[in-house]
Amino acid sequence: MADSASMGFSGDGGDAVAPTPEEVGSSYDEFGALYGLILGDSAIHVGMWTPPGGRAPASTLPDLANLAMDRQTDYYIETLGLTADDHLLDIGCGTGGPAVRAARSTGGRATGITVSRSQVELGRARAREAGLADRVNFALANAMDLGKEYEDESYDAAWAIDSFAHMSDRLAALGQARRVLRPGGRLLFTEFTLRSEPDPEYLAVWRAVWTSPPPLDPPTVLARVVEAGFELERLEDHTENFAVTGELMDTLYRDHHDEILEHYGAETTAGMDAAMPKLREFIRNHLGYYVFVARKPR
Ligand code: SAH
Repeated sequence: MADSASMGFSGDGGDAVAPTPEEVGSSYDEFGALYGLILGDSAIHVGMWTPPGGRAPASTLPDLANLAMDRQTDYYIETLGLTADDHLLDIGCGTGGPAVRAARSTGGRATGITVSRSQVELGRARAREAGLADRVNFALANAMDLGKEYEDESYDAAWAIDSFAHMSDRLAALGQARRVLRPGGRLLFTEFTLRSEPDPEYLAVWRAVWTSPPPLDPPTVLARVVEAGFELERLEDHTENFAVTGELMDTLYRDHHDEILEHYGAETTAGMDAAMPKLREFIRNHLGYYVFVARKPR
């Protein structure tokens, strides 16, 4: 008679006869804790990500995504060691979530720049709602050519989260960041990189969807960092995170298809329907995701 400890996760059980109820029971006694960790504790079943015939969103997925994005922002706040004395430049600030989060948690100041007019307004509204409009502001500006109103050595720290990938001249963007940072100030930025040679069609889909030039490889980015006058302090591979996000975006796209169709119309949606599976494949198979931390020498 097989010892129950040789069943389940700890043995292959391939030649074993059907397990007895006692063996099934003791398997749950032993591995119940594992299910709690790898699945959740509300039940021990597969879950229904999309209801049959329905399109109701799997509503916890955006919650999970928001949690992951906030965790990423917090990690960067911690990595840069931001304090109440710091003024952060958020290069490519999106709708202002990370800048507002940084100012709230550190007590410091933040300025977000973006090339999207609607994002400037959304960022300002977010700062007002958080009661932080006196410490967080947003402006329309091109990171590759900031202009004189962004004075030399006027920021203590900067980050560019998922924004450099849009920019055609990485050296210009890095040079501008270096110029406006105080000596000893640090820039944290993320890069989408290529892990392997993609089919040109898939690369084209990525570039169209993400409005971007082709991704650079890490050694090229590193060369630009040095060329721009920074010292590299840290380089981390966070590719696994992108792989999960790629799957998640694809699932949520399908969950929200009706709303997407209503918002963008049939023609644009048909284009997106064709692009989404390719985008998912491209992220899963070809994209890398790196975090660079560079310091302006004193
Ligand atoms: N960093 C934000 C948003 C990422 S989306 C976040 O983490 O939530 C990419 C952002 O880069 C957008 O806000 C876009 O407007 C900005 N961006 C792209 N090219 C830019 C440029 N040349 N100058 C400034 N911002 C740019």
